[in-house]
Amino acid sequence: GQTIGILGGGQLGRMIILEGRKMGYRFITLDPARDCPGSQVADEHIVGAYDDLAAAQRLAERSDLIVYEFENLSPDVVRQLEQSHCVPQGSRLLEITRHRLEEKRAVEQAGVPVAPYRVIETREDLTSALQELGYPAVLKTTTGGYDGKGQWRIQTPEEVASLPVGMFNGERQYILEKFIPFVKEMSVVVARSVTGEVAAFPPAVNLHRRHILHMSITPAPVSAEIMREAERMAVRVAEHLQVVGLVAVEMFVLPDGGLLVNELAPRPHNSGHYTYDACHTSQFEQFLRAVTGLPLGSPAAYSPAVMVNILGEHAERLMNQFHRLPKEMKVHWYGKKEAKTGRKMGHVTVLADTVEQALQIIESVDIWPPLTDKEKDAIQNEMK
Ligand code: ATP
Ligand code: MG
Ligand code: MG
Repeated sequence: GQTIGILGGGQLGRMIILEGRKMGYRFITLDPARDCPGSQVADEHIVGAYDDLAAAQRLAERSDLIVYEFENLSPDVVRQLEQSHCVPQGSRLLEITRHRLEEKRAVEQAGVPVAPYRVIETREDLTSALQELGYPAVLKTTTGGYDGKGQWRIQTPEEVASLPVGMFNGERQYILEKFIPFVKEMSVVVARSVTGEVAAFPPAVNLHRRHILHMSITPAPVSAEIMREAERMAVRVAEHLQVVGLVAVEMFVLPDGGLLVNELAPRPHNSGHYTYDACHTSQFEQFLRAVTGLPLGSPAAYSPAVMVNILGEHAERLMNQFHRLPKEMKVHWYGKKEAKTGRKMGHVTVLADTVEQALQIIESVDIWPPLTDKEKDAIQNEMK
């Protein structure tokens, strides 16, 4: 079979490999950590920094094609590799999605709405942008952020003064976004193949806790119109960007039912992990089908599903209850050694006849703090 080289060895790489092995592919990972989630299941592993061109070239020499599994990667390396090797996702998709400003512009160009924003380089830029957009607002670094890192919510003019000193030293660029009082968050993972074939997975409704994804629910508890519109917008973004592989499109649902795109990810997405257990084709298999030019599989779900993340602070309780978890609960464990707070250690997917039943099964185990009333509202089908 073909050998696929993966830039990155996190849990996304690991799940791509676990799914790709059954298809007969071999895998080599490149990651600075020797014992990363990906390397534990890969055929070969190269230890190297992501911006180490020599290491990337060694990966490329041994691979028939190269993919990346996260976007906080140096585009220079990918640009170099694609001169002489097959990198189906390409450097352009990476350049756009690693940079919030480029990404927003690309989404707007696709004719899809985003939250109002301003480009910020100096403290003066911030002051005038806050005057224009109003409070509260969210300041985000243009590159390098994930799980809410590199983000500051600004509620009052006084809070500007308490931002870290040296933030605006001219070396970093930010965007300021208007705070969106969304009623729900949704996401759609879309696959687009090297042949241009497109398939969208069923949209999920997502709950975040402390800026980290906590739970994804499918079928999304939203109206049929919102469901269709979310899919339509996501496919439009995928086609406009000529994505090869996957693009995950995160969205806010507004009180009037309108949708805004929050951000994109050019790879399998945490909110698409439910597809592993609930869909005819998982997002990981679909990703491999898309980059290798196989016909795309059916993205249809054969069961309602709720996915919950296992963070470092949940790991011990999950382990203690492992032997008596409900049979509907599928555990995925990423093989990370240190269970740090906020670190994604694994996830579970619960399949049941209805979302309500799946939620009850999750409430029946003592691993996560129960849903708050506000969270329950955000996963109700009715719009408020
Ligand atoms: P991810 O781990 O999803 O890549 P990230 O660090 O790139 O996260 P975002 O997805 O931009 O960050 O934001 C994280 C969360 O913060 C969002 O899912 C949403 O809950 C909240 N958020 C971000 N931007 C806004 C906004 N403009 N208005 C309201 N809430 C927001
Ligand atoms: Mg992000
Ligand atoms: Mg996000």
